[in-house]
Amino acid sequence: MTVERVRDISEFELIDRLRDALPESVRASAEVPLGIGDDAALWQPPEGESVLVTTDSLIDRVHFRTDWTSWRDLGWKSIAVNISDIASMGGVPKLATVSLALTGGELAADLVELYRGIGEIADRDRVVLAGGDIVRAPHDLGIHVTLVGATRNGRFLTRSNAQPGDVIAVTGTLGAAAAGVELLGLPEDDPRRSAVTAPLLIEAHARPQPRVRAGRLALELGAHAAMDLSDGLFGDLPKILSASGVSAEIDLAAIPVAASIRALFPDRWLDLATRGGEDYELLLTFPPDRFEAFQKALAAYGETVTAVGQVGGRSAHPELRARTLDGDVVPVRPGAFDHFGGAAS
Ligand code: ADP
Ligand code: MG
Repeated sequence: MTVERVRDISEFELIDRLRDALPESVRASAEVPLGIGDDAALWQPPEGESVLVTTDSLIDRVHFRTDWTSWRDLGWKSIAVNISDIASMGGVPKLATVSLALTGGELAADLVELYRGIGEIADRDRVVLAGGDIVRAPHDLGIHVTLVGATRNGRFLTRSNAQPGDVIAVTGTLGAAAAGVELLGLPEDDPRRSAVTAPLLIEAHARPQPRVRAGRLALELGAHAAMDLSDGLFGDLPKILSASGVSAEIDLAAIPVAASIRALFPDRWLDLATRGGEDYELLLTFPPDRFEAFQKALAAYGETVTAVGQVGGRSAHPELRARTLDGDVVPVRPGAFDHFGGAAS
């Protein structure tokens, strides 16, 4: 059997195969009666819903490595990172378009796998894959996704409304995705690669779980500010602080980090948790009297949120400080580190 490459088949044939790789549930819905196949898709948003739009691209060798990730996981992730942006606004994802920039050297079967991964998360989170495009890329594969979401009654969460005295909180745990990337980069014979917890950490990197429910509940229960964590706590919190004009202090001892990360990376776990990136958890600020209700509401679904610090005073030059494990309070240099050596975001 010959391996079939994208350059060997027509664009129409490829689009057909990609559509066929998607479950029925993500090809159309009551709200999106017309999807792939025409010049445009039709979305009929229900009465009272406002539209949220976001877009994010994944580029080979900048955001992923095809030897470190499966095509199916790559498809999952390309949609998941966009869903996460809608979740952080308190919205619900509705439909996506996917533009593929292809060199022609890709295997057709790999792209079908990519669409199976897209289909899996789209099915789970009720997103219709409404259309897309295929263009020629001279060097590196690119996956460009635009996602449309909705929120009710014009309400949404932003980065710019954190208030002095707010609790700063994160959903889930931090650092697992970064630890997964570290593991993938270790030499074959490093014993940490075969640790029982290694697959879970690698999975956290390969298949981020966007926090749609947490975002919606945060909006309902009165969060002041939100964003999703793609560049790590110390990469992203400064964005909320400058958008809101407030300073903040983080308690490093309070940051939720899996025990396996502390065990596998005894010298680096805190760095992975604060600067590692790609957690796709939500970073929220809450008025202190509303935080507990949110925590309880999430717990009912088996999800966690942890207070990690507090918003300080208003300032034209917001400062981020951390209380270290020794109890000293020190200034934090904002920023994330970059696993792939390029400008990753
Ligand atoms: P046009 O020439 O009008 O841009 P195309 O031939 O590019 O149309 O696309 C035909 C149909 O297939 C359109 O409905 C488009 O949305 C869909 N489509 C094209 N590429 C993709 C893709 N990568 N993923 C999903 N749908 C796609
Ligand atoms: Mg086109």
